[in-house]
Amino acid sequence: MAMPPDEPRPESGAYVLGILDPNETADFEAHLTVCWICLEEVHSLGEVKRLLDRLLGRRP
Ligand SMILES: [Zn+2]
Repeated sequence: MAMPPDEPRPESGAYVLGILDPNETADFEAHLTVCWICLEEVHSLGEVKRLLDRLLGRRP
């Protein structure tokens, strides 16, 4: 059984920014269901992105 890495995958940031291609997105989402480290990272990056979007006055 492979041990999960201690660090989130570098895709976390790209995923939150929505810049992964569809294949990478599907792959990373599958990974998120089994890796809480990346899930945490996506969560906290998502918070930061929301805050930045608000500060910059961007609306989706
Ligand atoms: Zn992971």
